[in-house]
Amino acid sequence: MDRRYELRVYLRNVHRKRTFRKMFAISEIIRLGPWCMHELSIALSLLDEVDAAAAREGVTHVASVRLRVGRLSGIACDALRFSWDLARAETVAADAALIIDEVPIALWCAACDRERAPRDGAGLTCSACGALAPSIVRGREIELVAMEVRA
Ligand SMILES: [Zn+2]
Repeated sequence: MDRRYELRVYLRNVHRKRTFRKMFAISEIIRLGPWCMHELSIALSLLDEVDAAAAREGVTHVASVRLRVGRLSGIACDALRFSWDLARAETVAADAALIIDEVPIALWCAACDRERAPRDGAGLTCSACGALAPSIVRGREIELVAMEVRA
């Protein structure tokens, strides 16, 4: 049996600023590596939310969790899936699938007076008219949108 270590993950991205503690085997921590610490903290905060919602609703088994992740959120979805698989152990979502809907970037173009996709490789510029469109309508979110549960 692997020795288990407490890993303290400081949650920066959630409304409630606090430290989340969870036991991980050292082999899991090594597999995670520093590259996905950000995603691990997101997976843990997500589980925290799922756990709170399940407790509120009297649910003991969560079958799947659906997320919306914006392209500009700074999250590597593969790292998040990997982190999720590790973090969900011994929680109400122990075998819950993580379904990620990636949200494309949408900008508000003042020149066109409507929402537009950004121009490829041109930063925050309108794909239709090429004007600078610095106001981001969508693409930065990380949202828990649904939980499928079993009673
Ligand atoms: Zn435009």
